[in-house]
Amino acid sequence: MRLHSRLIAWNLLLIFLVSFVLAFYLTASQLALVIVIAVVFTFVFSYGVRVLISRPLREIATVSRKLAAGNLDQRLPITGDEEIVVLGTSLNAMAQILSARMQALSDGKQQLELILEAMGQGVMVLDREGRITLTNSSLLKVLGTDRDLARRTPLEVFRRPELENAVRAVLAGEPVQTLEITTGSNRVLQAGVSPVTNAAGAVDSAVVVFHDLTEIRRLERMRRDFVANVSHEFKTPLTSIRGYTETLLSGAKDDPNIAVDFLNTIQRNAQHLEMLVSDLLKLARLESEVPTDRDAIDLKPMIEDVIASRRNAIHEREVQIVLECPEIQIHTDRSRLYTALANLIDNAIHYNKPGGEVRINAEIEDGYLFLAVVDTGQGIPSEELPRIFERFYRVDKSRGRDSGGTGLGLSIVKHAIESQGGTISVTSRLGTGSAFTIRLPQ
Ligand code: ADP
Repeated sequence: MRLHSRLIAWNLLLIFLVSFVLAFYLTASQLALVIVIAVVFTFVFSYGVRVLISRPLREIATVSRKLAAGNLDQRLPITGDEEIVVLGTSLNAMAQILSARMQALSDGKQQLELILEAMGQGVMVLDREGRITLTNSSLLKVLGTDRDLARRTPLEVFRRPELENAVRAVLAGEPVQTLEITTGSNRVLQAGVSPVTNAAGAVDSAVVVFHDLTEIRRLERMRRDFVANVSHEFKTPLTSIRGYTETLLSGAKDDPNIAVDFLNTIQRNAQHLEMLVSDLLKLARLESEVPTDRDAIDLKPMIEDVIASRRNAIHEREVQIVLECPEIQIHTDRSRLYTALANLIDNAIHYNKPGGEVRINAEIEDGYLFLAVVDTGQGIPSEELPRIFERFYRVDKSRGRDSGGTGLGLSIVKHAIESQGGTISVTSRLGTGSAFTIRLPQ
């Protein structure tokens, strides 16, 4: 029952009881007048109570209900009696503090989410049962999935029992664990599993941070392979030089015919070693130096210069050189372009058939130089094409080293061109010939 209704009810009961007593002392008309006045006062008084107390209280109740429902922007108008004003002010202050705290919490959460998303490393948070509660997009990217991983266990997601065991151990109180795992998509990840403790110091959850080591491991493997390949490339000519020298020393030097023959072989092997060292140095320089010079180069004279310096080889192989190059000026590192061009022309001559042709075309299209070296040689099998730019890769493994090449020429070309923002591509048909095309920004 409302406050003012209850006041009216009590007052009417009081008026009834008092009138009962007054009926012994007053006349009927006097009693009626007193009752009317008392009833009027009762209603006026209860109206006052309603306006001054009930209505503000009801407003306070309405605002409190909205605050409780989470609408923290609600405020009370500060009017009325002192007690109501104090209550309203307190309620407004409470709403303001709550709103500020909620804002701080939400800012903190948003900041945390932004940091997690901006992290290059994959992050996964697990609850006390070892189930995933949070992941960032870097982790989903590494795993190649956009599924929601919440409530799954690491074992279900990674299928690596060692990761699951590490998480369980950390949740059981063990210190930070670090391990390396390989995912289903062959990515190598280093996982650091750390405990998260609550205010009481008990382990509450665990965080796993993943570093993607795939690229590092690939480079390590490449370096190991490279060292093995270099050793192998050096070993063959060195063994040959040692063998022939020993045979010469143990008597063959006395037969002039054999001696000259052996010495020629030793010289050939020494020259091969020299070429190998020179190509390796070129490659090392290309890898370590950033091209800074962008000379303005007249292309045609440069190509003619390369052709002129190969005159002997061209004559020996009886190949025809056809140059189709307008007057073009391009801005690039001169020595890198020269090296690339020289290697492509050397190959086009070397792997051509006697009497074949080498056609060199150059043109500018959409701000790019397209420079093609096309030969009429033996061609390259299509399955070998993706690998010919690798170091020491030779198509004809048995003939490769004997043919004088180091197996480094095309990887030098690739480095020289790509380091200047260009690309190199190849098309080839067995028995018909090959076309190598350089594309360089003008
Ligand atoms: P190499 O020193 O052996 O020539 P490259 O890196 O220049 O090394 O070439 C790698 C391999 O690609 C060569 O061994 C050869 O088998 C093949 N190759 C390169 N250029 C040509 C070409 N124009 N025609 C046919 N095969 C080629």
